[in-house]
Amino acid sequence: MEFRTIIEPFRIKSIESVKFTNLEDREAALVAAAYNVFRLRADDVLIDLLTDSGTGAMSAAQWGALIQADESYAGSRSFYRFEAAVRDLTGFEYIIPTHQGRAAERILFHTVLQAGQIVPNNNHFDTTRANIEFEHAEAVDLVIAEGRVPALVHPFKGNVDLAALERLLQERGDRVPLVMVTVTNNSGGGQPVSLENLRGVRALCDAYRKPLFLDACRFAENAYFIKRREPGYQDRTPKAIAQEMFALADGCTMSAKKDGLANIGGFLAMNDATWAEQSRNLLILTEGFPTYGGLAGYDLEAIARGLEEVVDESYLRYRIRSIEYLGEKLSGAGVPIIQPPGGHAIYIDARALLPHIPPLQYPGIALVNALYVEAGIRGVEIGTVMFGLHPDGSETPAAMDLVRLAVPRRVYTQSHIDYVAEAVIGVAAMRDRLRGYRIVSPPKVLRHFTAEFAPVEDGVGA
Ligand SMILES: *Cc1c(COP(=O)(O)O)cnc(C)c1O
Repeated sequence: MEFRTIIEPFRIKSIESVKFTNLEDREAALVAAAYNVFRLRADDVLIDLLTDSGTGAMSAAQWGALIQADESYAGSRSFYRFEAAVRDLTGFEYIIPTHQGRAAERILFHTVLQAGQIVPNNNHFDTTRANIEFEHAEAVDLVIAEGRVPALVHPFKGNVDLAALERLLQERGDRVPLVMVTVTNNSGGGQPVSLENLRGVRALCDAYRKPLFLDACRFAENAYFIKRREPGYQDRTPKAIAQEMFALADGCTMSAKKDGLANIGGFLAMNDATWAEQSRNLLILTEGFPTYGGLAGYDLEAIARGLEEVVDESYLRYRIRSIEYLGEKLSGAGVPIIQPPGGHAIYIDARALLPHIPPLQYPGIALVNALYVEAGIRGVEIGTVMFGLHPDGSETPAAMDLVRLAVPRRVYTQSHIDYVAEAVIGVAAMRDRLRGYRIVSPPKVLRHFTAEFAPVEDGVGA
């Protein structure tokens, strides 16, 4: 028989109950959180789609490895196991564990960046951009034009605009110490980058003698999209495709909280001995000795196994299909989402859904808050609150106002996803009653994490 139903490729050995709350409970919780779902207690959330970062379920093999870990301060067995797993996948020479992805970013950028320099990327993730700007350098987004049009279907919307990259390297190349590509492109909707495009970026990096670094957080999801969509890759394993991606780069930053299938951890890896040496010196200062980098031996074990499990084809087939399934339900009901669905999340186009809320009154926050109050679901705004504030203190609408529903790995079942679809479709039906927000306490960096909001009164700002 040929089966059409793609099932979860695991059975459940240990469960965690979720708490049901009522509408009044949730309204009170949201007011107490100053209308910012980052400030909620997670116990007050029924289905938590805030992030796919560090929220995945570990396998029995990972839990088993934890107890076998070696907690030696220096040279632990677990480090060598971790290093071997990362090297097998990436081929990079120097592998530096960090406590999460942003620590790898901070160390890399502090090592290689000087004030006034420029780092191009398809789209910088928020911590990546913040760490570049912290060094007084500039983060430039060069995703292809198709990647900026939410409703447009294109197989590789994460691709870099090669002409724009070449122009940048021609005109201001002396100020570019490295080129980055984010796979998949989180801020652009979890969209993949093709191998053809990566080869194009590599060729430009060769021509202008620039190192290429991958922001590799979701390398396995990207590899699976290549297998499904890029001619010539149907018969390759996701692992072989991932290895080919890494072989085109000179290094990577990685959050093991995503495709590392671990709850914490990350790494910085590269081939350049000088940069690696400088990075390790900084690592010792702020993270720890180079064979643990701020992680416990058991974290290194969890990551080593996670990197093996994540390239399993039946896992990736289920993973990508479960996101696509939610996307089909929503778009089938007329909810505007980024098309096609990305690898780890559905991104609802809140600006299109709520045209009566101007971008500077944060339509994404309005939708996130309604989803929480109505259904106990926690999503996240990826829009003007996250990207609208500039280093000079001015504020402009972001390119898009999206709400991301990120799906934790191996955690929720199909009926959870059915409930989410029902909730989003229900909130979309009451869209006219949703109102915008204003920020009452504006933090300077990464304001979406801590800002306090208040609903915009009717008429105010109209
Ligand atoms: C999560 C993420 C990071 C940062 O990783 P953390 O582990 O959260 O510090 C960087 N880049 C991308 C694309 C990410 O998704």
